[in-house]
Amino acid sequence: MSIAFKVYVRCANCQKDYGCRLEPPEAEDTPADIDELLESNFLRDQRFTCQDCESPIGTVTGVKMLRDEQLVKTQELCF
Ligand SMILES: [Zn+2]
Repeated sequence: MSIAFKVYVRCANCQKDYGCRLEPPEAEDTPADIDELLESNFLRDQRFTCQDCESPIGTVTGVKMLRDEQLVKTQELCF
């Protein structure tokens, strides 16, 4: 069973939204759902970069979770 996340990020500089696919490596502390992903060091270690202005500062606005490429959960985040 493979788990992947699609993370949606809004650029703090140009306000553009972009998506980034994350596939956590299989490990004991692999995030198993969206809440765990949001609290994980794995997500904190990710570096998102805007494709338009290359700003590395972004806010996560939503996450989709995929299990074996099937969408299992969508979470919108409000800031
Ligand atoms: Zn940007």
